[in-house]
Amino acid sequence: MLRRLIQAKKNDKYVVIVGCSLSGNKLADDIKAMSEEIRIIFADNDVAKQQNGNGGYRVIGVNEIKGIDYECCIIASVRFFLELSEQLRELGVVEKDIYYTKEILQKKDMWLGKRFPRKQLVFVVDLAEHCNLNCQNCDHFSPLADEKYADIGVFENDMQRMAELFCDEMYSISEIYLEGGEPLLNKNAVEFIKIVGKKLPKTQICIFTNGLLIPKQEQYFWDICREYHVRMVVTKYPINFDYDKAKEIVVNNGVEFQFAEDGNVVKTSLHKPLDLRGSQDKYISYMECYMGNGLCNMLKNGKLYPCTVVPNIDVFNRYFKQNVQVCEKDYIDIYKAESAEEIMEFLTNPIPACRYCQPQNWTAGIEWKTTTFNIREWAE
Ligand code: SF4
Ligand code: SF4
Repeated sequence: MLRRLIQAKKNDKYVVIVGCSLSGNKLADDIKAMSEEIRIIFADNDVAKQQNGNGGYRVIGVNEIKGIDYECCIIASVRFFLELSEQLRELGVVEKDIYYTKEILQKKDMWLGKRFPRKQLVFVVDLAEHCNLNCQNCDHFSPLADEKYADIGVFENDMQRMAELFCDEMYSISEIYLEGGEPLLNKNAVEFIKIVGKKLPKTQICIFTNGLLIPKQEQYFWDICREYHVRMVVTKYPINFDYDKAKEIVVNNGVEFQFAEDGNVVKTSLHKPLDLRGSQDKYISYMECYMGNGLCNMLKNGKLYPCTVVPNIDVFNRYFKQNVQVCEKDYIDIYKAESAEEIMEFLTNPIPACRYCQPQNWTAGIEWKTTTFNIREWAE
């Protein structure tokens, strides 16, 4: 890009910064610090910005770019970088003249992955809201939950509906994670397994468990797990429990076993404090969040959410008397959705509740502990 800036100065051409944003302003400052003589103009689709200018710079509409004598265009909008790059191409701006800010370049591949619909859906269903291991920072809020189990009738209807929606060649449901809370607290777990196995026979069923109840399971449980090719995914916590023995029980029953993380790594916690004011930029939060359009979609009572946080936020609100809001745009109703495509498209976008999350401030690698029931484990 440096070569193009030198060219712009030499040929007295414009450098177009596409998108009025903080990073765009910073870029303009950096360019001016290099040389006052480089001509900078901003381009933005927002008419108000075109009328008001941006920090002393003129702002034109993006569609007007072709009408000016430019050297190159530098996209500086994190939020709309994909749409803007498409718009530039449609306008006839050639690829070699399109650049991105450093911030966008560093994350472009990850962000692009978020913006395209996946072909295979993975989702979670909580069989129990509560848990027998009350970890700090639990992102299902299970330590704060009352004893509560998934309704099997609702679950059966939901699986039927998902099977109807994902019946074509184009989209499939590759895995369903039966989680919690602790899923094995649900004494009916085998019935849930059978429903998935019958309605969605090509889908891999995974039980995501802390493993503590594995030694207590009866033979019938193992027979059903084997029949429906269940994979037992176990998180190994730093507690006084014989995980090797638990693994042996699973394997000896002919059931697939997997540690959720490397079985030799000591499990740590991830601290994800919510911004209770909801003042975050939902686009940035969504782009930075590993859950959105990933493997943590959650289905609860006919509604599919892009993460496990929002469908369980009522537990947090109730326990700490807070008011983190969830609205109809935070999920897709699987009975109103007309196709799998609509669902997969929904998951590529931030939801309003993303404004409560601040992934930039999430801290990984915290020593694992049980909860102290302090709100600071879940919020600022
Ligand atoms: S074992 Fe899992 S569900 Fe249970 S409290 Fe810990 S993190 Fe939450
Ligand atoms: S609300 Fe958005 S940012 Fe927060 S965890 Fe869910 S998908 Fe991620």
